[in-house]
Amino acid sequence: MRFVTYQAATGPRAAGVTERGYVDLNQADAQLSPSLRTILAEGPVALQRAKAALASGPVIEPSEVRLLPPIVDPEKIICIGLNYADHAAETGAKIPTEPVVFNKFPNTLRAHEDEIVLPKVSHEVDYEAELVVIIGREGKHISQTSALEYVAGYACGHDVSARDWQKGRPGGQWLLGKTFDSFAPLGPELVTPDEIGDPGRLDIQLRLKGEVMQKSNTKQLIFPVDYLISYLSQVVTLKPGDLIYTGTPPGVGMARMPPVWLKAGDTVEIEIEKVGILRNRVVAE
Ligand code: ZN
Repeated sequence: MRFVTYQAATGPRAAGVTERGYVDLNQADAQLSPSLRTILAEGPVALQRAKAALASGPVIEPSEVRLLPPIVDPEKIICIGLNYADHAAETGAKIPTEPVVFNKFPNTLRAHEDEIVLPKVSHEVDYEAELVVIIGREGKHISQTSALEYVAGYACGHDVSARDWQKGRPGGQWLLGKTFDSFAPLGPELVTPDEIGDPGRLDIQLRLKGEVMQKSNTKQLIFPVDYLISYLSQVVTLKPGDLIYTGTPPGVGMARMPPVWLKAGDTVEIEIEKVGILRNRVVAE
């Protein structure tokens, strides 16, 4: 199944994606929450109800709705750095022996077709295509062998990065350069695992103004999805709706000669096989 969250007059609402159009889940079945995060938290029974609702519910034309990120209110946005071997090499970093972990705040989230805002105080804003894992079940100390059972779905994500705020900051911190407003577009849809199969075999690509800048496959991940879930759950209790940005492949702007930075008017598209295409325009603050 594929789900979106859209902006209604009453606030964010979850809808399913069908060939007929979007179906508002709560309108189709009043027992389903308007919140996609809540539906995920309710587990398989709610998902079965959602599936039934999709088959018969009234349709909304996709052109009539403004999309929001599929999850608008995650408790956590966890990000993995340097997780593709080739990308680690292009940054001059050693291949990490355990995951490099940082985070963003929810102020960074934006939907498909929303704007990425270039901060006034940065002149080196870079792009990063990423597969995002959306957690569906609460868990702590999750084993690697059961980790994929905790995945509600996948989405395309963009880890926008102000390199002049990421590099050279005291203590080696990355947070500020990664968490400017609008720096984590997500979407357009949450796609359930049955539609994806192995998350470690997906082509991933980023196009800037139509030109391919990043092109790889998630089989290049140094730490695959199941490992990341298990590793992170040693530290934090993962909750339904938590987002894990799994790292970016080679081809980022800072590794190019000369470097390529995002400019006002640019359009960035991230395409992940079976997951979808996330498109955002870049504007000045
Ligand atoms: Zn990243």
